[in-house]
Parts: sequence; C-alpha cells; structure tokens
Amino acid sequence: MEMATTVCLGRVLTTPPLAAAVRCAAGKRTSSTSSTKNRRNTADTVDKRKRKSKRTEPTWQCASGCGACCKLAKGPAFPSPEDIFSDDPDNLQLYKSLIGPDGWCIHYESDTRRCSIYNERPVFCRVEQEVFEKLYGIKSWRFNQEACTACIDTIKAVYGSGTQELKNFKQLTRGR
Ligand code: SF4
Ligand code: SF4
Repeated sequence: MEMATTVCLGRVLTTPPLAAAVRCAAGKRTSSTSSTKNRRNTADTVDKRKRKSKRTEPTWQCASGCGACCKLAKGPAFPSPEDIFSDDPDNLQLYKSLIGPDGWCIHYESDTRRCSIYNERPVFCRVEQEVFEKLYGIKSWRFNQEACTACIDTIKAVYGSGTQELKNFKQLTRGR
C-alpha cells in the first residue's frame, strides 16, 4: 500500500498566476541620499539578487504520514466540488461519491494515513505534471511551486500551522 497523494484541488484552482514582482527597496530609499549611499544600496540589491538566484525552487514530494489532501470536504475556505469540476461532470460525480460522513475520503485509512486504492486512485488524486496541466492548466515549469503551495495550504487547513506535518513537508521539499 502506498502513501495517499490526493492533489490539494482547492488551492490549485484558486492560486493566482505566480507574480514575478520584484521590489527594489534600495532604489526607493535612495531618492534623498548621497551618491555613495546610492552605490552601496545598489550593490546590496545586486548581492541579494545573486543570493536569491542561487536558491532552487522547492521540489514537490509527498510527505510520508501526512494524508491531509484526502480530507475531501475541506470547508468554506476551499472551492466546492461543483466549483472544482464545473465543466467535468464525471469527475464531479466521482469526487462527491468519495466523500465520507466525516469529510474524509472513504478510501483513506486513518490509522495508517494511506490510500487503500492507491494504484487505482482517481486521476485528480495524482500529483503529476501531466495531470496538473490537463486538469488545471498548470504548466510544467510551475508544477513544483504550485504543488508545494497546494500541500502547505491543505496541511495548514487540515492539521493547522506549526504542526509536525507541516514541518515535515517543508523540510522534505524546501529549495536550497
Ligand atoms: S497534502 Fe501533500 S504531502 Fe500531504 S498527503 Fe497530500 S500530497 Fe502528500
Ligand atoms: S482515493 Fe481517496 S484515499 Fe486515495 S488518494 Fe484519493 S482521496 Fe486519498
């Protein structure tokens, strides 16, 4: 039996396009300062950018012992199944049929935090680049960031911030 890996659908569908807003704080500070300070601030900014460029993006992995995304009824902060699958009636029906009375998937084994039908799990449970592109229009180059963000939001919603589950996930996936 394998680890449950349902994609955190709510977050994926509500994640805005990644914004590449770069704010040059040093530049804003320099308007009333000397040229020496201007140069120092510019150098600081370049150094910060170099340090930042050396960091790689997080690489998505499912954290063992998590299972947060198998709670299918996530509450009002997440889109409803009707919102998620507004133009996909087959997956809407399938998704709704999996929701148990406690909000967790009927195939989720809470004692082991694993999926009992892992090899046959629905396509929307699969955290894969091809699935993200097909179902959500997420391009491959955005996959890791989007999947990691989705997991973090889902883990926070299900287990809470500051939990061991969240720490485990961040430790496993963080970029260096
Ligand atoms: S929320 Fe993310 S880390 Fe947790 S079980 Fe789902 S895919 Fe794995
Ligand atoms: S089928 Fe259910 S238990 Fe299995 S991965 Fe999907 S949501 Fe989780």
